[in-house]
Amino acid sequence: MEEWYSFTCPCCWQDVSMLLDLSAGGQAYVQDCEACCNPLDISFEVENGHATNFTVSAAQE
Ligand SMILES: [Zn+2]
Repeated sequence: MEEWYSFTCPCCWQDVSMLLDLSAGGQAYVQDCEACCNPLDISFEVENGHATNFTVSAAQE
């Protein structure tokens, strides 16, 4: 179960889309922005099969 989620990158301010794996429930991890390649802290919860409470911030190096 996966879902595309679009958000504004806190590093480069571009609109980027990220494929979230919802099958394991809520998660928190670091993933590189596909636009600027800076590491981003991603976290979300899963409710009724959709991502919710999605947050993104620039990861500390
Ligand atoms: Zn970016």
